[in-house]
Amino acid sequence: MRVGIGYDLHKLKKGRKLLLGGVAIPHTHGLSGHSDGDVLIHAVVDALLGALGQGDIGEHFPDTDARWKGSDSRVFAKKALALLRKQKLKISNIDATLVAEAPKLLPYKPKMKKNLAKIFGVRPNLVNIKAKTNEKTGSIGQGEAMACLAIVGLNG
Ligand code: MG
Repeated sequence: MRVGIGYDLHKLKKGRKLLLGGVAIPHTHGLSGHSDGDVLIHAVVDALLGALGQGDIGEHFPDTDARWKGSDSRVFAKKALALLRKQKLKISNIDATLVAEAPKLLPYKPKMKKNLAKIFGVRPNLVNIKAKTNEKTGSIGQGEAMACLAIVGLNG
């Protein structure tokens, strides 16, 4: 059995589309970044790369590379899944914690779970998504950013 941990944070920008786990969520702000800013997919990809012993998302998709500008984060997941297949391993589970002050993410959890399962090619019951606020403190609590932590387990 192998596990990997992932963490990501993106700044919120007014008028940008908010994507979490590939799900569009209505909000005044969206996540900025070189790609589409999907902090949930990025954290899970990093956790998967970690479990595979394959470095991090920045090594595979440098933000200095114009190829990944505005990139759909599902592309990153696809590449990480190709590395997973190469090692003949399978995802046993995905657990992620989103940290965001607003909007309330509870109503979107089932959709994010379903979509994340589809993106990473696993059954929805192997995916768990948690959402917390930062108790109004710090950059996340002040609505300047969103973060995500994730763990991916693998088995042979
Ligand atoms: Mg990122």
